[in-house]
Amino acid sequence: MNLSGSQLIGPHQSQQGSQTFHAVDPSSGQELAPAFYEATPAEVAQAAKAAEAAFERYRRLEPAARAAFLDQIAEEIMALGDALIKRAMQETALPEGRLKGERGRTCNQLKLFAEVVREGSWVDARIDTADPGRKPVPRPDVRQMHIPLGPVAVFGASNFPLAFSVAGGDTASALAAGCTVLVKGHPAHPGTSELVGRAVLAAAAKTNMPEGVFSLLQGAGHQVGMAMVEHPLVKAVGFTGSFRGGKALFDLANQRPEPIPVYAEMGSTNPVFVLPGALAQRAASIAKGLASSVALGVGQFCTNPGLVLALEGEHTQGFIEQTGKELGEITAGTMLTKGIQQAYLSGIKKLNAIGNVEVVASGKAASTANTSTTFMLKTDAATLLTRKELTEEVFGPSTVAVTASSKAELLAAANSLEGHLTATIHATEKDLQEFDELVTCLQRKVGRLIFNGFPTGVEVCHAMVHGGPFPATTDARSTSVGTAAIRRFARPLCYQDFPQHILPPELQNHNPRKIWRLINGQMSREGV
Ligand code: NAP
Repeated sequence: MNLSGSQLIGPHQSQQGSQTFHAVDPSSGQELAPAFYEATPAEVAQAAKAAEAAFERYRRLEPAARAAFLDQIAEEIMALGDALIKRAMQETALPEGRLKGERGRTCNQLKLFAEVVREGSWVDARIDTADPGRKPVPRPDVRQMHIPLGPVAVFGASNFPLAFSVAGGDTASALAAGCTVLVKGHPAHPGTSELVGRAVLAAAAKTNMPEGVFSLLQGAGHQVGMAMVEHPLVKAVGFTGSFRGGKALFDLANQRPEPIPVYAEMGSTNPVFVLPGALAQRAASIAKGLASSVALGVGQFCTNPGLVLALEGEHTQGFIEQTGKELGEITAGTMLTKGIQQAYLSGIKKLNAIGNVEVVASGKAASTANTSTTFMLKTDAATLLTRKELTEEVFGPSTVAVTASSKAELLAAANSLEGHLTATIHATEKDLQEFDELVTCLQRKVGRLIFNGFPTGVEVCHAMVHGGPFPATTDARSTSVGTAAIRRFARPLCYQDFPQHILPPELQNHNPRKIWRLINGQMSREGV
């Protein structure tokens, strides 16, 4: 399948720029053809204008039409067949099985959002009927529902070239909400991005969507993304990547004359607490599960468990050694980009330079381009409490074991944590009773609490939260995975005393969409 290297501005290809960049095969370091054009500020503006022009018609489409578009995107992605998988393998060095799995997840995610849109209750319609006889003043008729924000800028992530990229969760949830979308493709996989971008546009054409409902802009410098966030027609941003990138874009959005919401999912260390009863019962199996979770996908997951905390005790040292042994036996893998590999190695170096931090185990030394090595480091809670960098994300297959000398010290370590995406507790029933304060403390630190499991593997479902307090994200009230992600790109609009025929169908008395609504405080699918 031929790649053009162009911007895809709605259905139009554009190559106005003079600068180009190439994808690089991470396993060989070789550049891949073709050259991709860096989007110009004028092209960003064209895409934003096209998104705004399409928005009014798109947001008013029948839910069934929007759902058909989402379903069709999934069809078109599947129709790309092996060409997509082959290109993604070349650009990311991720294995075929993983990419096929990720493609399935991406398509299922699109179909799940299609179902949510078709069902319709996500708009959270609320109706408080008028009470003209209320004393001392009559009560007005007040009705509320969620409407889409406008054009949304989405940043593709390097570590999920399909599921968190061009047609990933941010795009799917924004399109589902009724927003038009401009994607900044990640420069590490521009060919994969173009293929998926074309699939989205083919689906748009087949389902008669307005031109400009979707655009893909490419670039290997910060300018393209900055221009997208600064453009006055863009009304929200979805981002997955580094703390530095996410925070810079968040600050930029807040400096605009009209600030806009930025939903940035950034770094997380995902602490795992292994309590004494659990250690006594099953240290070896926790060690095995933990090592596979740390090394999964060469550690390039935002839910990678980078901190393991336990009380000093009879089984603790053996557990740390066993986890180190398991990790050390895992063969090194190729990382997504040279930059990510170098950031990983310098992150390990930085941790190892802290006094009282030692490397317990490491995997086989790197041999080919961009391969990484697994690492297990060890320190104590007293050191953790004074060195914040131990709790910061080192993106790759490593983890730091932290031992606490007392329950109070373990709780102090938990209390010192900033926001993370997840926290995990391995415990028995007795541990839970004894460490109930730990659960209470962690509720304020993370978006997802895991019991006797591991944080990698984020289920796409209605109840999922993939988010958490800052610095894990820039908005702790949201999730970037699961159907609740749709709410990021909508806002509540209230109608007071409006005539029925002007109200949207979701708020009309007879409930033509048959959705769940809160009517005078009671959930109902009946009419008013
Ligand atoms: P990144 O550097 O944050 O880049 C992600 C996207 O944001 C790219 O499109 C990048 O565009 C853009 N960007 C970054 N900084 C920007 C800025 N200041 N202004 C405008 N746009 C900006 O992430 P990455 O390239 O995937 O990997 C780098 C590091 O991010 C990793 O080593 C890892 O630490 C972290 N990371 C974390 C997660 C996670 O899920 N938490 C996922 C992936 C990576 P340009 O590159 O074109 O400027």
